Amino acid sequence: MQSLKKVDVHNKRVLVRVDFNVPTDKKGNIIDDTRIRESLPTLRYLVDQGARVIAVSHLGRPKGKPVEEFRMDKVARHLGHLMKKSVIKMDECVGPAVKKAIEAMAPGDIMVLENVRFYPGEEANDPEFSRQLAELADIYVNDAFGAAHRAHASISGVADLLPSVPGFLLEKEVTMLSKVMSGAENPRAAIVGGAKVADKLTLLKNLVEKMDVLIIGGAMANTFLKARGLNIGQSVFEEALVDTARELMEIARERNTKLLLPVDVVVADHFAEDAKHQIVPVDQVPDGWMILDIGPETVKAYRQYINQARTVFWNGPMGVYEFEAFSSGTNGVARAVASAPAISVVGGGDSMAAVYHLGLQNKITHVSTGGGATLEFLEGKRLPGLVSCDFRQQMVG
Ligand code: ADP
Ligand code: MG
Repeated sequence: MQSLKKVDVHNKRVLVRVDFNVPTDKKGNIIDDTRIRESLPTLRYLVDQGARVIAVSHLGRPKGKPVEEFRMDKVARHLGHLMKKSVIKMDECVGPAVKKAIEAMAPGDIMVLENVRFYPGEEANDPEFSRQLAELADIYVNDAFGAAHRAHASISGVADLLPSVPGFLLEKEVTMLSKVMSGAENPRAAIVGGAKVADKLTLLKNLVEKMDVLIIGGAMANTFLKARGLNIGQSVFEEALVDTARELMEIARERNTKLLLPVDVVVADHFAEDAKHQIVPVDQVPDGWMILDIGPETVKAYRQYINQARTVFWNGPMGVYEFEAFSSGTNGVARAVASAPAISVVGGGDSMAAVYHLGLQNKITHVSTGGGATLEFLEGKRLPGLVSCDFRQQMVG
């Protein structure tokens, strides 16, 4: 495994692909700076080592041309606050002006390039654009785990042209996510919820083979309940995947993976925040009602398995957690994961939001910064951002 710490970066021009793709409002103000903070260990290290640090990222979806609200100025300014250091901000990514500014940098200086997605060559992984990026630097560091599933120029193309190493965040993500799938800490439990089986089918297939316990909640549980022949009333489910759910339960039996489904549920008479609702055993869903959360007995049962596990992975809410009346299942599971003695890893936008909402982020061993990248990694896919920076994925898909 290559390590950034083994590379001599002093006075070298180091191009660092970071994930500064923070959520912003219409005026481009930063709503949540977690992603910028997550990149600080790598950037601080490089600055302390006297590298000439050139950070590059995308922000939003400007689709290959400059869009004012997606300029990196506010991100660069905020980075300066966090690092207590002045940050050079360029209005371009490549070209003579950028090159000249880099030449003028002193060891330990840091620069932020303009949004790399202002250039059509980025998403096209255009060799010429990759070459222009590579020309800026002596060494390439990839620390953008959240974008590692994209074969773009600043992630993939440029890495083939420069000596490349992973940054600390990328390394941490790969180490922690590999532990979930194939670490030595047994038993392993995964909790998967959210809206659709279809979105997470490959993930479920991989987990059912690798976990000791697979816990299902959220709307995705409905398809499994249907496969068990239960009446789920008006609950959303995926007709086309009922057979697949049955197969997954079959594989679980063969592999001796404990697959857990809700034993009680919160049902509502329609889909609304203030809908009439009640808790019922899972085999007593009234006709015309819909399942919007797992029930308290289910939370209790799930908590027991979570407590016994040595590694726990959680992705996807247990119910419509956006509505308070249907958030108990998700909150209960979040608290169980946070207080479990296990190594705990949480991935996925909505699950992460639930963890932060409850202020539990510091009680989780690792909250993954990747959305799509995290899922694809756990599905066993080879991510372009890991392959290209010579980073050997420890997990075999
Ligand atoms: P994540 O972002 O953590 O991967 P998903 O995006 O897959 O999670 O799913 C989140 C969505 O699933 C939420 O908007 C939530 O309201 C919805 N959901 C969960 N349970 C149910 C349910 N029983 N019925 C309808 N929607 C549900
Ligand atoms: Mg989501």
